[in-house]
Amino acid sequence: MNVLLLGSGGREHALAWKLAQSPSLTRLYAAPGNPGIAQEAECVALDAGDHDAVVTFCRDRKIALVVIGPEAPLVDGLADSLRTADIAAFGPSAAAARLEGSKGFTKDLCARAGIPTGDYVRTGDLETARAALARFEPPYVLKADGLAAGKGVVIAEDIAQAEIVLADMFGGLHGDAGAEVVIEQFLEGEEASFFAITDGESVIPFGTAQDHKQVGEGDVGANTGGMGAYSPAPVLTRALQDRVMAEIIRPTVDTMREEGMAYSGVLYAGLMLTATGPQLIEYNCRFGDPECQVLMTRLETDLLALMNACANGDLKGHEARFAETTALTVVMAAKGYPGTPEKGGAIDLGAAENGGAKVFHAGTKHGDDGALVANGGRVLNVTATGANVTEAQAKAYQAVDAISFPSGFCRRDIGWKEVAREQD
Ligand code: ATP
Repeated sequence: MNVLLLGSGGREHALAWKLAQSPSLTRLYAAPGNPGIAQEAECVALDAGDHDAVVTFCRDRKIALVVIGPEAPLVDGLADSLRTADIAAFGPSAAAARLEGSKGFTKDLCARAGIPTGDYVRTGDLETARAALARFEPPYVLKADGLAAGKGVVIAEDIAQAEIVLADMFGGLHGDAGAEVVIEQFLEGEEASFFAITDGESVIPFGTAQDHKQVGEGDVGANTGGMGAYSPAPVLTRALQDRVMAEIIRPTVDTMREEGMAYSGVLYAGLMLTATGPQLIEYNCRFGDPECQVLMTRLETDLLALMNACANGDLKGHEARFAETTALTVVMAAKGYPGTPEKGGAIDLGAAENGGAKVFHAGTKHGDDGALVANGGRVLNVTATGANVTEAQAKAYQAVDAISFPSGFCRRDIGWKEVAREQD
């Protein structure tokens, strides 16, 4: 079968690498792709925002399945346009992608379905929002309703700061995404990610992970798209995973279907593991980046078969098997990230992959002389496996140290919490 994969990050390189291992794959195309993806797929220039162009390409190349990597095209309804043209797509409709695209939508759904999550107030009015602060204890969790590239959530320490943040959000800081805000109860605990795939009816667990959002070691400093991750997340024990499926994932999938907006694709739950159990912080309607890199490294089942089953309402009876090993990925970013990253820095991967590690490309490109250079904030995802986080971490940093990237940097402590627990 011919497949088109949309996206250009480390997530999509990992998906391309795994899809390329499928016995049922005939040709894999990627748009726009990157130099790593180009090792697995034919990269083509296609704008995911131009739905007609994507449909025409799919018809010309006899594409049987489109895998949509990032959230923006999903929220924008690309899966709907493809389905209208009778082309199967892995990823939810625009209506279902509101689980990521509108935080208020998700909170309202949780309230209707009895899904454990923090108390909240959703409003489009500054005065109502200011008055609502009195209902909560500090710190105050303030969220712009729509997509804000990970920058739409602020944890304010006191009322004065919360009021400033609300005024900024309603003042247009995040454009339309901030036309409504959600004020939320602060949840205490450890964060973890849980993944499931679904065709709208059947739903199967698809692994766990923990990531490191902050740029600095010890989880300090500015937020980023993610500086590293590992899978599985041992804090999400089998018993907790069963609870997440029963209390959060299944009620979500069932309620979405019953309300006429069946969700298909990957459902990625950001969880807080509180003293009373797992609570939902947020949903994402696509794989995490870099969580996808560690999930794909461990996945043993044919990814294409699973995605195709999701896209065609045929998931019943399938299961996803993951290797018992731990996978850990270290993000190498260009200096300046998450501010303005240095572009064009030389990269030599050297013998990084010789010890069994895998380097997934994110922001890379070939320079004029054909050599690999940096072309974005997050540049490489150096991924290794081991018997536990300690071992996977050691192997990943061994591979990192084999790479020459003078204008790059990485955190040296990915997995630190788990390493400390393993050494106890
Ligand atoms: P991202 O794109 O970075 O995943 P986002 O902008 O979609 O994030 P959320 O995941 O909802 O927003 O929140 C970002 C971070 O803020 C969370 O990972 C968590 O650390 C913190 N956070 C969000 N909601 C809460 C809450 N209710 N209690 C405590 N911390 C929270």
